Amino acid sequence: MSPVARLMSRRSIAMRRHRCFAGGRPAGSGMRYNAFQILKQGLAGNRGWRPAWRKPDPKPEYDVLIIGGGGHGLATAYYLAAEHGLRNVAVLEKGYLGSGNVGRNTTIVRANYGLPGNSQFYSHSLRLWEGLEQELNYNVMHSQRGIINLFHSDGQRDAAARRGNAMLNQGDDAILLDRAECRAMLPYLDHDQTRFPIYGGLYHPRGGTARHDAVAWGYARGADRQGVDLIETCEVTGIDIAGGKVTGVQTTRGAIRARKVAIVVAGRSSQVAAMAGLRLPIESHVLQAFVTEGLKPVIDHVVTYGMGHFYISQSDKGGLVFGGDLDFYPSYAARGNLPMAEHVMEAGMTLMPMLGRARVLRSWGGIMDMSPDGSPIIDHAPVDGLFVNCGWCYGGFKAVPGSGHCFAHLIATGQPHPAAARYRLDRFETGRGLMDEEGTGAQHNLH
Ligand SMILES: Cc1cc2nc3c(=O)[nH]c(=O)nc-3n(C[C@H](O)[C@H](O)[C@H](O)COP(=O)(O)OP(=O)(O)OC[C@H]3O[C@@H](n4cnc5c(N)ncnc54)[C@H](O)[C@@H]3O)c2cc1C
Repeated sequence: MSPVARLMSRRSIAMRRHRCFAGGRPAGSGMRYNAFQILKQGLAGNRGWRPAWRKPDPKPEYDVLIIGGGGHGLATAYYLAAEHGLRNVAVLEKGYLGSGNVGRNTTIVRANYGLPGNSQFYSHSLRLWEGLEQELNYNVMHSQRGIINLFHSDGQRDAAARRGNAMLNQGDDAILLDRAECRAMLPYLDHDQTRFPIYGGLYHPRGGTARHDAVAWGYARGADRQGVDLIETCEVTGIDIAGGKVTGVQTTRGAIRARKVAIVVAGRSSQVAAMAGLRLPIESHVLQAFVTEGLKPVIDHVVTYGMGHFYISQSDKGGLVFGGDLDFYPSYAARGNLPMAEHVMEAGMTLMPMLGRARVLRSWGGIMDMSPDGSPIIDHAPVDGLFVNCGWCYGGFKAVPGSGHCFAHLIATGQPHPAAARYRLDRFETGRGLMDEEGTGAQHNLH
């Protein structure tokens, strides 16, 4: 990242801190972020920065209400306004924007899915990522540092080659690394560990990371500039339906009417859908992550170690960011259990013994909306005017641009976007079109 981009990123963070002091002023609309603005504001004592978005009170009625101010909800609002001209839109968020999983994930962005349906969707999403900073005029620190999925047997090599071919056929990039290439690129790993020696890796150079909460802030600012109302501390407590048609919602800030309502609440999907009498094929599970103290640059890529249920990358601040698998019992608690923390540390030490010298700074958890086949849902609900977007499991951060783009298309036109046409809600009833990405069978708890 260039020094100017770094500076702008710090400036964006500072701007968010300033939002509360600038309360009643108009939105940041009109102010573009660029080097000239930094110079101008710097010379003026940095007193001219505006809030990145307004804090409006809810209006009595909107054309579209989006429940959930996470990455997917904010991106949907942005594309509804930017691509479909729908501006009488509000996002209702029970906490503050970005307080959910969009600010809790390990920031990995990739398009290395193998199955038809998923492959084209994540490819679509990655292409949107690649133009996102320019489109939003916001530095989301998208870093295409490459992802390497390690393999440890001949069978796994075959599976990696098959996946790599699917990625290439889709127009994405994939390189199969042999043992020597892996050693050269990842010298800090224990390649000869007796249990799972490293046979090679599937390298996806366009994969990488992005700063998670900046993605929420960038979409929020973009949506606000188009006139979308972002209403924080506004929990939806009921969904109003009359004659089989949605008419609005009940919230902690009063009733709001709308012709269309979209549910995009990640780990809370089942609970919010139940307000409309729906039973979604979703289970909520906890996923934990960990970060060490800041270290000098040591890991250039994102590395995944499937055999050990472990993955790791290094943040721009220097922290080693890593995680493992789900805690494996349904829960709405956004914190994890100690046995899984121990498992993740052990797997990390097996792969990368030097990890034992780093001090873990903090750990946290987020609530995952797990679907039975590990693939998401972007569809109409069986209530007129109601839409659902959920089932992103532990991989929904990379999907934020694609999901928002495709969901906005569905809400505005009534037709599924071609890149998300297979993400139907009824596939679990009919059994047709399941996308069992991880080959574990369409069963709960086996993702
Ligand atoms: C530890 C961890 C690591 C992860 N790592 C990755 C990764 O590396 N790459 C990747 O692609 N994905 C990753 N994910 C998954 C990814 O973060 C999620 O799939 C994605 O963020 C979910 O979509 P969202 O951003 O819209 O969710 P959220 O940010 O959770 O948004 C949902 C919002 O809905 C709000 N809400 C809920 N109920 C109501 C209500 N009744 N009324 C109003 N608002 C409501 C919530 O407050 C929340 O803000 C990870 C997740 C976790 C927890």
